[in-house]
Amino acid sequence: MSEATERSGEVVRWRDRLIRTKQLFEFMTKLIFYVDFEKDLEIYKKWKLRKFFGENFFNYLLKLYYPKLIGKTDKEIINYFKNNKEKIIQQTEKSGEKLKQEWVKINNYFFQEVERVTGFKWKHKIYKCHLSSTFICGGCYDAQKGNIVSVFPRLKHASVLDTLFHELIHLHFWDTINELKIKYNKKEKLTAKGKIWDLSEIAVNYPLQKIKIKEHKPEFHIYPQHKKLWNKIKKYWNLDFKDFILKSLEDM
Ligand SMILES: [Zn+2]
Repeated sequence: MSEATERSGEVVRWRDRLIRTKQLFEFMTKLIFYVDFEKDLEIYKKWKLRKFFGENFFNYLLKLYYPKLIGKTDKEIINYFKNNKEKIIQQTEKSGEKLKQEWVKINNYFFQEVERVTGFKWKHKIYKCHLSSTFICGGCYDAQKGNIVSVFPRLKHASVLDTLFHELIHLHFWDTINELKIKYNKKEKLTAKGKIWDLSEIAVNYPLQKIKIKEHKPEFHIYPQHKKLWNKIKKYWNLDFKDFILKSLEDM
């Protein structure tokens, strides 16, 4: 073989390798971060955090993140957000940048590990993380769109990375429920109330406790109102994800 043919063979091999790497990269599930202030006002109004968590915890959160707003009504709070939009977005973007840097390191591990421990594929190729300025309790997910979560990146009272994991796994959970052809009232998903929603708040911990991501160990987290249910279904924790869901639902 002449030197020229050998070299062009080499070039072809490198080109193939590059194409394969590119294909692999495009194939992987991705998370995109963005800021959207209108969505912030929308989710603040929709979820009524004050009512959901109670006045005490709500004030605790305000004290941590927006101390000027303690004692204000929801209407006054919304107005404060609107009037200080630029400054607030800047703060959010700054913390969001840190979160993005942490995320880049674990993106592939996370999506792959969740598939491995649940046995279900992520439904979407692209997920979006809305960097929130108003959702001071942590995070939520957009049940209607199915691939958007909102996370407050300035979180101090909880791990922002765990919160992001938690919300993304919620989306994965609902897609798994559909995949298993389990019937439920679609309202449950949108209003965060009902049997499957109760189960979802416990079930998100299933992948979180079983995935292996470098040194990161997510915390087990459930709402106080789900403790009784947890005691009832924890005996199914060692089954595979599908059976954990099916058996738990039989007991509920
Ligand atoms: Zn949750």
